[in-house]
Amino acid sequence: MSRPRIGLTLDADAERGRYELRAGYVDAVLSAGGLPILLPHAPQAAAAYLALLDGLVVTGGAFDVPPELYGEARRKECGVTKPERTAFEKDLLEAALAARLPVLGICGGMQLLNVVRGGTLYQDLAADAGLSGHEQPAPKDAPSHEARVAPGTQLASLVGAGPLGVNSTHHQAVKDPGAGVLVAARAPDGVVEAIELPDLPFALGVQWHPEAVLRHEPRHAALYRGLVEAARDARR
Ligand code: MN
Repeated sequence: MSRPRIGLTLDADAERGRYELRAGYVDAVLSAGGLPILLPHAPQAAAAYLALLDGLVVTGGAFDVPPELYGEARRKECGVTKPERTAFEKDLLEAALAARLPVLGICGGMQLLNVVRGGTLYQDLAADAGLSGHEQPAPKDAPSHEARVAPGTQLASLVGAGPLGVNSTHHQAVKDPGAGVLVAARAPDGVVEAIELPDLPFALGVQWHPEAVLRHEPRHAALYRGLVEAARDARR
């Protein structure tokens, strides 16, 4: 059986002149039966990339979505931004959603999925909402809190409804869900941990890193399998 082509957005280290991607993303796509396609940031190339792809993973990284994209001025607690990377990912993600291409957003990728639908983010969970406990110490891949998966969601069809142990390496989170954005899981403190777009065949975002935590909790592999299966369906 042929492998659906799954695009993965890259991080950029401008100082060292390098693109970077944690190998766990690639391994998770391969294990799920997909063919990973790494996507250097190319302005105006979203349509050309999309023509190559059957599915898309918008990855995370140690940076924040520029608050101007959700109509807020930047506050001091907002972290470093990578406007060129985000501009590329936004173009690609919007084009993928318009084409009904299966999409999985991870961490910052989930936050961007909410923002492109007109949603907003907490610029900093501690400063904006008085919430802590979402930036775990090392090891970063171990489950550190629960996500409660809502019954009847696409996420529940993949990992089961109810409590799921997740890792947590974020200081921002979804505040107001965007148009057509369904909250599919929350942490016990109420923080949004997963969203999905029920108007599309497969558009899911998780605040945790399934490709990292799956070595502790194998249920997380179902997220990548779900993406690859949806990509296979989309190709038909
Ligand atoms: Mn969390």
